[in-house]
Amino acid sequence: MSIPDLETLHALGPAQQPTYPDAGAVDAAVARLRTMPPLVFAGECDDLKTKLAAVSRGEAFLLQGGDCAETFAGVTADNVRNKLRVLLQMAVVLTYAASVPVVKVGRIAGQYAKPRSSDLETRDGVTLPAYRGDAVNGFDFTEAARIPDPQRLVDVYNSSAATLNLVRAFVTGGYADLRQVHTWNTDFVRESPVGQQYEAMANEIERALTFMQAIGADPDEFHRVDFHSSHEALVLEYEHAMTRIDSRTQTPYDVSGHFVWIGERTRQLDNAHVELLSHIRNPIGVKLGPTTTPDDALALAAKLNPHNEPGRLTFITRFGAGKIRDGLPHLVEKVQAAGVQVAWVCDPMHGNTFEASSGYKTRRFDDVIDEVQGFFDVHRSLGTWPGGIHVELTGDDVTECVGGGEELLEADLGGRYESVCDPRLNRVQSLELAFLVAEMLRKA
Ligand code: PEP
Ligand code: MN
Repeated sequence: MSIPDLETLHALGPAQQPTYPDAGAVDAAVARLRTMPPLVFAGECDDLKTKLAAVSRGEAFLLQGGDCAETFAGVTADNVRNKLRVLLQMAVVLTYAASVPVVKVGRIAGQYAKPRSSDLETRDGVTLPAYRGDAVNGFDFTEAARIPDPQRLVDVYNSSAATLNLVRAFVTGGYADLRQVHTWNTDFVRESPVGQQYEAMANEIERALTFMQAIGADPDEFHRVDFHSSHEALVLEYEHAMTRIDSRTQTPYDVSGHFVWIGERTRQLDNAHVELLSHIRNPIGVKLGPTTTPDDALALAAKLNPHNEPGRLTFITRFGAGKIRDGLPHLVEKVQAAGVQVAWVCDPMHGNTFEASSGYKTRRFDDVIDEVQGFFDVHRSLGTWPGGIHVELTGDDVTECVGGGEELLEADLGGRYESVCDPRLNRVQSLELAFLVAEMLRKA
């Protein structure tokens, strides 16, 4: 089985691609990437697919989260640990409070390319190409920084490798041991009300672990977790160069991450992203916004998962809190009626972004919760399984989303706004979300 070449894909006129000034430099970067070892193994992708099949059957819940846009400068030990830590905390809350297996996937080790609503950005009368993520150009608002540079794709590979190396060490090397459940609850979070709630839960878990140990049960699962990487498959050069034929099965896998998804702006049925991802064997996702018709969803499923393999396809809906209750039911209903195997996941972030009066892009914590609640309500009323959440978050104490228990105000946004793209939940807000979702799951 082979995949279409890059020229064929570009001939389809894909959206959201960088315009590189130097074709020779692009060829050189792609050639370099083709020689690099895989970041993930095909067998690991298959493991995740098996877990996502359980999600689609209603037997597990997906927690997918991380930055909107990773940055090269953000590849530090502290940063990677903090993101992993908040995801581990959220996962344990969901697992313990809702008694459901949680599939853990980071928006991490590859999430460097961003689709933009405009090709250009204007500040104080100066117009430059928009920032498209560190994979493409620089965030600095200068002409030089904003020129797309294909060497950055090699930097994406190296940054992803460094991140994944540390993540693998953390999740198997003792940091993710359930005995650490207390130590994940550090500094500013510990003092917050939700940190206290977490502390109480951690005490119960610790008692249970001690009991298990006393009776001689000490399974491997107490000491390590399965954690997977994911990112939006956006820049065709990168994803194509990282697609390899698996020696076990002779089929293509995109070995840049375990799970890749197609964004809301690049999911056109006859275009390059859908075409490329239709050929790879990884588990994949598609973002579905409020304009998605049932026919769109069915056509995507037919093209991307023609054998209706469970776990292969995840639909990540991102309607917005105001639209999900009216918009989602007919989509789910038709897809369900067609017998399509799919995991339904809620992205409660991208339909709820607005610009604060101060100019910062933000989201209200209450809107995020409201969309997740709407998602649960719709699925409950249709008898389908609300399979997971896909969120933008960070392990740090940033001020990017308003509301939550800390009651962050629009006026507070300037305090610590660090995202180079969309606003993320901070660690306290993320933990609050986990407890609220656990409550919804318990009722579902
Ligand atoms: C994103 O996940 O950061 C994103 C751009 O999402 P969407 O494609 O749903 O707009
Ligand atoms: Mn985003």
